[in-house]
Amino acid sequence: MSGFNLLHLITKSQPVTLKSCSLPSGACRTKKTWPVRFSQEELRKRLTPMQFHVTQERGTESAFTGEFALHKDDGTYTCVVCGAQLFSSNTKFDSGSGWPSFFDLMKEESVSVSDDFSYGMHRVEITCSQCGAHLGHLFDDGPKPSGKRYCINSASLAFQAKDTTTTTSSSSSAAEDGAAGSSASDVKTEL
Ligand SMILES: [Zn+2]
Repeated sequence: MSGFNLLHLITKSQPVTLKSCSLPSGACRTKKTWPVRFSQEELRKRLTPMQFHVTQERGTESAFTGEFALHKDDGTYTCVVCGAQLFSSNTKFDSGSGWPSFFDLMKEESVSVSDDFSYGMHRVEITCSQCGAHLGHLFDDGPKPSGKRYCINSASLAFQAKDTTTTTSSSSSAAEDGAAGSSASDVKTEL
């Protein structure tokens, strides 16, 4: 199912080289080592049981129970495990599913996608590219123009309100406009 990935890259027309993730098998989850790693012990202390279950054990919170399901504030949603910036509130929409839903990423490379055949169905799993945390699943029934629905567990996310941007040197005033645009490929998040 890597054609999916390709398509996305082409439509954005970025000179992005394909990552090893885009192997024909689509199997990029096989115990790969992620750039940022945390000990399970530390995470058990730092995360709530639900956050740990979802991000580390590929769990799913119940619909409408997550704190961000109906959250409408302006800001940035980050990975609860490593803090990587994942989604902007600008791309959040009400899908009615009971989980936070977004139609686009802040940066193409911020998540990894892979096939998930659990529960007897085929879905596309979304994982944080930095730390490998399970985030949720990607569906093709989102609003136009992207047509994508990133269905994410609240438990995988943390939220930075718009006015308190404390992160990264790269967040200049232009960062917001450029985040989903052409500058994405050469800008690294922290580290
Ligand atoms: Zn992460």
